[in-house]
Amino acid sequence: MEPTDLSLPAFEPGSVWLVGAGPGDPGLLTLHAVNGLQQADVVVYDALVGAAVLDLARPDCQKIHAGKRGGKPSPVQADISQRLVRLAKEGKRVLRLKGGDPFVFGRGGEEALALVAAGVPFRIIPGISAGIGGLAYAGIPVTHRDTNSTVTFVTGHGVGGEVPDGIDWAALAKGAPVIVLYMALKHIGTIAQRLLKHGRAAVEPVAVVSQATLPEQVILETTLGTCAADIAAAGIEPPCIVVIGEVVRLRNGLDWQGLAHGRVLDPNPLGLARQRETG
Ligand code: SAH
Repeated sequence: MEPTDLSLPAFEPGSVWLVGAGPGDPGLLTLHAVNGLQQADVVVYDALVGAAVLDLARPDCQKIHAGKRGGKPSPVQADISQRLVRLAKEGKRVLRLKGGDPFVFGRGGEEALALVAAGVPFRIIPGISAGIGGLAYAGIPVTHRDTNSTVTFVTGHGVGGEVPDGIDWAALAKGAPVIVLYMALKHIGTIAQRLLKHGRAAVEPVAVVSQATLPEQVILETTLGTCAADIAAAGIEPPCIVVIGEVVRLRNGLDWQGLAHGRVLDPNPLGLARQRETG
């Protein structure tokens, strides 16, 4: 496909495109992302960006790993930002590739502000965030009319690796019917305890989706009361998204990948007495 087919923009030398790579399946890249990969001179990518996505870059494109991964030593954020500035000032077309969406727990804002400070032109290309697209691959919608009108995205990991301080768990427990947790594996036990302490039910459904949208995808269905033990027993590996709330029950009706492997789906997964009229 020629980029010009859709009048996609030219990548100007000396500029940076901050691009979301989606959760993993390369089919979830945007056309803008693919267009950028076909023109970039340099790709600076994170640990969560897979080989299948990187392979879409030009063969002569320089690929720089700026891996940031919880618990392991990683380049200092300021160094990554300055590297982007330096490469752009050298006249390169610099594509900064981040897992999911660059503005969702991705520090995209920080990097873009560094570009602004240095006077480097840039473009933001949103991506499909793991907390939405990853759950869709598990057959779990983040909103559904019969269960929730709001959805809350939460990071389970503070700057220093602790459970984030700034979160009002009592307010979340009371006011957030569906909670989607990023980076929550390490502290899932503490998080579950806090929600239980503030009134959530131990039987509330929870799903954990590891390596969402990739061939290695693993899904665990559990409950708030038992999730920490079940996750440990199942040996679930990061990266994973944890979702807490009634929407998890919809998976019994919407597990479209399971359907392809012979699973029989329940058209009334919430067990409603009378199904809502469509429309
Ligand atoms: N910007 C990213 C999030 C970066 S934070 C986005 O919008 O998706 C990193 C966290 O994202 C991981 O700890 C995990 O919680 C989640 N994540 C990213 N890719 C994932 C995947 N393929 N499967 C499950 N979780 C994923």
